Amino acid sequence: MNVTVLTLFPEMLQAITGYGITRRAVETGLLTVNAVNPRDYTTDRHRTVDDRPFGGGPGMLMKVEPLLAALKAAREQLGVPARVVYLTPQGRKLDQPAVDRLATEPAMILIAGRYEGIDERVVATEVDEQWSIGDYVLSGGELPAMVMIDAMARRIPGVLGHQDSAEQDSFSGTLANLLDCPHYTRPEEVNGLRVPEVLLSGHHEAIRRWRLKQALGRTWQRRPDLLEARQHSPGLNSEEQD
Ligand code: SAM
Repeated sequence: MNVTVLTLFPEMLQAITGYGITRRAVETGLLTVNAVNPRDYTTDRHRTVDDRPFGGGPGMLMKVEPLLAALKAAREQLGVPARVVYLTPQGRKLDQPAVDRLATEPAMILIAGRYEGIDERVVATEVDEQWSIGDYVLSGGELPAMVMIDAMARRIPGVLGHQDSAEQDSFSGTLANLLDCPHYTRPEEVNGLRVPEVLLSGHHEAIRRWRLKQALGRTWQRRPDLLEARQHSPGLNSEEQD
């Protein structure tokens, strides 16, 4: 998957290209992350990237011409049709089904806004989808863009060491609309608390059932709204209904 981020702060992207699973995905060529900076497409002496909003009021907007020129450059660099996504608190809230779908796109341009955002006509004519990472306002779209890239990268076949581990995460695969079960590692006792005996038993079927029960119980306690959605999904089996 090829992702180009339109950003005034390209260095921020090192947080994903330089570390962990996403770094490995870049190194192995499963993911490319490039930045195009609208500042490089300014034509004035001061390389201005912000402009005042019509109608007055506090705050600035991203200047239109450098943004459009950067978008054109990003399209040319990618060389294939790319979905254009604007990260904005006004978008639909990002969730796992959306991430799974977006991860199948071969190329994507993510617009990271700054200031009070971007001109509405750019949204209307250039943007295919708008996504939010939650009901709060950040100073810029770089962190949301990186959240989206990280989540998508995990869904690209070959990126995780064990593809099964993505299937066993909260919201994914067998755990669609469920939270993951609790996990334990050595030692067998920590602060007086022992690992549940079943996990030491070696009985795979008993362990599987315990994990499913834990996932269901945890979801019921913390996110009952997810169970509601699961009840209407075809994946629910009789074991869960017991
Ligand atoms: N005036 C905008 C509003 O109230 O909708 C907020 C602008 S915000 C200060 C600047 C930029 O940060 C936005 O253009 C967007 O790209 C990004 N941003 C902020 N919060 C976000 C969120 N929850 N999800 C996605 N992007 C966000």
